Amino acid sequence: MSNRQQIDAMLHTIEIECSFTKGFTGRSSLLPEVMEAMRLVSRQDFVPPSLAAMAYENTPLPIGKGQTISQPFIVALMTDLLCPEKGDVVLEVGAGSGYQAAILSLLVRKVYTIEIIPALAERAMELLQRLGYGNVEVRQGDGYHGWPEYAPFDGIMVTAAATHVPPSLKEQLKPGGKMIIPVGSPYVVQELLVLEKDQQGIFTTRNVLPVSFVPLTRA
Ligand code: SAH
Repeated sequence: MSNRQQIDAMLHTIEIECSFTKGFTGRSSLLPEVMEAMRLVSRQDFVPPSLAAMAYENTPLPIGKGQTISQPFIVALMTDLLCPEKGDVVLEVGAGSGYQAAILSLLVRKVYTIEIIPALAERAMELLQRLGYGNVEVRQGDGYHGWPEYAPFDGIMVTAAATHVPPSLKEQLKPGGKMIIPVGSPYVVQELLVLEKDQQGIFTTRNVLPVSFVPLTRA
């Protein structure tokens, strides 16, 4: 299969999984611009060369240091749930390979992403720069505290499993903004949550889907 065919197959699988999970997510299809970003970003660039042949499988893959690049369907769903808009400034916690940040970068004005493992932070930084994703800034650190210098954010996406919603992230979300975060027991199963902050700063929370992420660790 050519690269193009593999990506088309990945998009098709995302559509199918979307219809299977519709009862949970309320989404029978994802935003066209999100699907287009999934088509444009080469996942192959973000996985280890030895796993290149599996780059477009709808499965998480190891990226070193015990971490994983998320399953394409989950990346697409989380991006869709954030309802990204062109002018948005978003924060990601858990840069990992940089793939999710690359997807977001095509949909919003600026992406700030934090990674706690120095080697992964450095690799994501270099890779995103080399591939020309110029509107992404990567920082090494503990994303539990967010990135106060650039707050507030229109959207926040946490791509590691938290035991609770970090208070700093709630603070750093703009009124009208959304946060997507898996919350639950590490290594077992978590609930993917969508939090919305209204103009008065009041949060509403919706449980979207059972998911399984690597844990959000602390510095
Ligand atoms: N979004 C990534 C995949 C995330 S895997 C991608 O597209 O590839 C989760 C990542 O979160 C791991 O790389 C892990 O090291 C990182 N992480 C865990 N705890 C963190 C924390 N407190 N702050 C920042 N990053 C964290």
